[in-house]
Amino acid sequence: MKLPFFLASRFVAGEDLSATLPVVRDLNENGLHVALDVLGEHVHDRDVAASARDTYIDLVHTLARSSPDGRRNRISIKLSMMGQLIDEDFCLRNLRMLLDEAEDQDVFVRLDMEGSDLTQSTLDLFEAVYPDYPNHVGPVLQAMLKRTEGDVDRMCELGASVRLCKGAYAEAEAIAYQNMDVIRARFTDYMERLLDHTTYSGIATHDDQLIDATKRYAQNNDVSPADFEFQMLYGLRPETQQDMAEAGYNMLVYVPYGTEWFPYFSRRLREKKENVLFVLKNVLLKS
Ligand SMILES: Cc1cc2nc3c(=O)[nH]c(=O)nc-3n(C[C@H](O)[C@H](O)[C@H](O)COP(=O)(O)OP(=O)(O)OC[C@H]3O[C@@H](n4cnc5c(N)ncnc54)[C@H](O)[C@@H]3O)c2cc1C
Repeated sequence: MKLPFFLASRFVAGEDLSATLPVVRDLNENGLHVALDVLGEHVHDRDVAASARDTYIDLVHTLARSSPDGRRNRISIKLSMMGQLIDEDFCLRNLRMLLDEAEDQDVFVRLDMEGSDLTQSTLDLFEAVYPDYPNHVGPVLQAMLKRTEGDVDRMCELGASVRLCKGAYAEAEAIAYQNMDVIRARFTDYMERLLDHTTYSGIATHDDQLIDATKRYAQNNDVSPADFEFQMLYGLRPETQQDMAEAGYNMLVYVPYGTEWFPYFSRRLREKKENVLFVLKNVLLKS
């Protein structure tokens, strides 16, 4: 059974690009940068993966045409949508085809991080392409994973742009911290290292404790707000997103769209009671 889209409409900009581009334009006009994500994951069919690659390539061209000067619009992709689970070499070829276009059009491609079964493969694919596209590709690291300390060291060594987040997937205690105070402490430590040693990393969180820690660290250590960005998800804390842009911080909004919205939507519901209440309120208003 397919759920109606209005349930997800707080978190997902539209079911297609034409519904999403006006959202991008509004965000840009309000001083916010955008990362567009075509929803979809865990593809097991080569034709579907190749078609996802072509959709991303079209998106790179659309974004290059429609981004106003000074806005760092980009795309965010899941490698499992481009053949990672079918054959890594096939996925790598798709990724290279996409990055050729992205470099040509000067659009940055962020590799979203999925569940821990894909972490090593995603970082391997990143390392395979990074030397050829150092200014146009970067990974995501999840503070909750115990392995991330070493991955942060490696990204600092490379100087690669990283998106740092807590991690959205349920992971086992053996490999992931479960306690929020510990995750915040890890996040803060990684944020400091990324701000010191990488170029234009993204601090992706709605958590005031981590946002304040980042602002404080930047101020006390002469890290210019021009050299990093904050990132939040479409529909979450929009007033705060606006306030931060007006205060002079680079603020990027992650804007997902597409018909395959259910897994993304359910991760947002799992994260916060307030998100569930919002959806229930929407249902009541429509009925
Ligand atoms: C741009 C972006 C990209 C991401 N990409 C990935 C990815 O590739 N892979 C991945 O695994 N995860 C990704 N995530 C998700 C991330 O890992 C977390 O699951 C998600 O952001 C929730 O953690 P949080 O730090 O934002 O705040 P939470 O842990 O949800 O909340 C902590 C505190 O923040 C405050 N807060 C949070 N939300 C609100 C709100 N709406 N209003 C008011 N206060 C609020 C509250 O004080 C709350 O107690 C991404 C997140 C962002 C923002």
